[in-house]
Amino acid sequence: MTLRHGVILLAATILVSARPGRGQRAAVPPPGLRLVESAPALGVVCLDPGHPSENNSGRAVQHGVTEVEMNWLVAMRMKALLEQANVKVVLTKANMDQFVTNQRRAEAANAARANLFLRLHCDTGKGSGITFYYPNREGQKGGVRGPSAWVRAESERAARIVHDAAVKGLQGALPDNGAHGDDRTRIGGKQGALTGSIYARTPVVLVEMVYLSKRTDAAFIRSSRGREAMVRSLTAGVLAYLTKRAYRNGPVARGQLFPPAAVEVARRLPASLEPAGPRRPARRRDLV
Ligand SMILES: [Zn+2]
Repeated sequence: MTLRHGVILLAATILVSARPGRGQRAAVPPPGLRLVESAPALGVVCLDPGHPSENNSGRAVQHGVTEVEMNWLVAMRMKALLEQANVKVVLTKANMDQFVTNQRRAEAANAARANLFLRLHCDTGKGSGITFYYPNREGQKGGVRGPSAWVRAESERAARIVHDAAVKGLQGALPDNGAHGDDRTRIGGKQGALTGSIYARTPVVLVEMVYLSKRTDAAFIRSSRGREAMVRSLTAGVLAYLTKRAYRNGPVARGQLFPPAAVEVARRLPASLEPAGPRRPARRRDLV
């Protein structure tokens, strides 16, 4: 698809999406424009606001906030921004307090055939800053082994892209703890991988956005300004991953979509996707 065709498709989509209300006349496309019912989405993202789950309610109050609420608020804002960027968003739960096991969360992502399963959490323990995890080993839970080698490789790729974009967007507001295999987490260390990774048949990335046990981290995610910076940084990371994927084997490669907003996001990313720096995260206590 050429740039011109892409713009026409986009314009036509905007016309279709601006549906007339009562008493209004339907929009008539200018000559030469082909109306399409809807452009293919840039991708499908399953957002997983962590807790309550079989391990933890997420309702412990630390420095005036609860993890379950921060995860939920970030997910809601990311959903709105991603949908504006032509991404289909599926959630793993319908409201903040809904109990969903980690197996069910992965199954929701699988059922949606998500291009990315992004799990939102806040850590607690000795430490500060943002940390990303991806499955790096096959694990075992309830007689099930997983995830597959493809899921592991693609999850690491996604984690590094989302990490790099997110850290760039945060502009040093929080320490960067890098992206690591989830066998380094407490439950991942026992099972080989987190439960949500073992059952995932989609690329899966877990982000511990802050340490709520650290006063300055909690203040950052509690403030609407800090939380919005987190939302926008993670959203830029997700769009960067989806865009790179779309150019590799997705709708762009198939000539179905030209996503200008996402291309702009990707253009501003650092060229290097080197592994994260030498910082090791503190022992992680959040039981996801
Ligand atoms: Zn958590």
